[in-house]
Amino acid sequence: MEIPFWDKSIETIDRSELEKLQLAGLKRQVENALKTTFYKNKLLKEGIIGGSSIKSLDDLRRLPFTTKSDLREAYPFGLMSVNKEDVVRIHASSGTTGTPTIIYQTQKDVSMAADTMARSLVAAGCTKNDICQNMMTYGLFTGGMCFHYGAERLGMTVIPTSSGNTIRQIKFMHDFGTTVTHATPSYLLHLHQAIEESEYDRNDFKWRLAVTGAEPHSEELRCKIQDKLGIEVYNCYGMSELNGPGVAFECIFRKGMHIWEDRYIIEIIDPVTLEPVPEGEVGELVVTILHRDAMPLLRYRTRDLTRIIPEPCACGRTHRRLARFTGRSDDMLIINGVNVFPSQIEEVLLKVNGVGANYLIVVEKQGDLDKLTVQTEVTPEMFTDDTRPLNALKERLKAEMSALITINPVIELKESGSMPVSEGKAKRVDDRRPKDF
Ligand code: ADP
Ligand code: ZN
Repeated sequence: MEIPFWDKSIETIDRSELEKLQLAGLKRQVENALKTTFYKNKLLKEGIIGGSSIKSLDDLRRLPFTTKSDLREAYPFGLMSVNKEDVVRIHASSGTTGTPTIIYQTQKDVSMAADTMARSLVAAGCTKNDICQNMMTYGLFTGGMCFHYGAERLGMTVIPTSSGNTIRQIKFMHDFGTTVTHATPSYLLHLHQAIEESEYDRNDFKWRLAVTGAEPHSEELRCKIQDKLGIEVYNCYGMSELNGPGVAFECIFRKGMHIWEDRYIIEIIDPVTLEPVPEGEVGELVVTILHRDAMPLLRYRTRDLTRIIPEPCACGRTHRRLARFTGRSDDMLIINGVNVFPSQIEEVLLKVNGVGANYLIVVEKQGDLDKLTVQTEVTPEMFTDDTRPLNALKERLKAEMSALITINPVIELKESGSMPVSEGKAKRVDDRRPKDF
């Protein structure tokens, strides 16, 4: 069997050579970090005064961790390590308003990210002959443009349909002979259903492969999608902080995602003790980015839980594989691919008059998509014969929440005192989606 490569020499590089590249990259990133207002003092305090302070990869552990709230603190320019004029693009994480976590890229950074994405797509067997429909949202979210640039770099024909408008998605897939799609797993199932119900016959499509990610999903779900849709489904991991999708990607063997270790140094830690876990055990993925000039990110705590698959892969790539992600070490919810923190919902509830003491966030599956319901008590005086104030409250909450989290919740208003009061720590989230990891 022919194994496809984008850059075989780097993808199959000897581990000792790879470590040399990593060390050089780390030194470069430390130099960059010292140019930022955010990292400068933190590093100097540890006695790190330049790239030369890093003598071996073990020195990584002398560097501070970076968290999402650090990124918010550094907003807007605290992590910029180049002149503003050299930045050509800014992206932000999905679903966040308030203080977003953003990234900046130089022309070279954009190009490197595209190259990484192209490498990932080739590993999955995509070629320049493919016609690729990108159904991820374009805009601040990296799933749109960053994927797009990588697919173009490979030479695929890219149709930037973005998310939604399923009828049009299907028409384009049919009319242009789309062979590859990029979408969340839940949207794939929805799309399948819509094709079944459409005027089109599945046999008239050329669809053969789906790249999917942005939310945790199980092996069972992958198999279900493959069987139902008659396509190959590849898992793709990424996040905007790390330049978007394509950080780790499955090769044609589909047994875990190769993480591109010439571009990212990874650690798997215990999220409580912050110590490394033994290789092969589940922990939180921590990533240091090596190939971005405009914005260094040292030991970034992704909060995503996974483990390293230590065995070598049959494809011959020496970059290690990450197992399917099993969840997060914080309370972030991923709803139809959009990141939502319960605190964002609470923020809205707390500032609107008429909202009572108790609330519950319910996430469930409706068909193949996720449904978000916010149940909240109202103050006693809201419950009268006149339903207009209640309706107005509902509309206001809906509008404020969808503005903040970019998805439309269902609002259920409850009489004051009608919701169960939990003893001890209040249960604010009821995630009823099947968990089959
Ligand atoms: P995106 O949703 O495009 O990956 P965001 O920065 O908005 O980018 O969200 C990143 C988060 O999405 C990750 O931290 C992780 O929790 C989740 N995620 C991304 N890809 C996967 C995947 N393949 N499996 C599980 N979770 C994923
Ligand atoms: Zn492989």
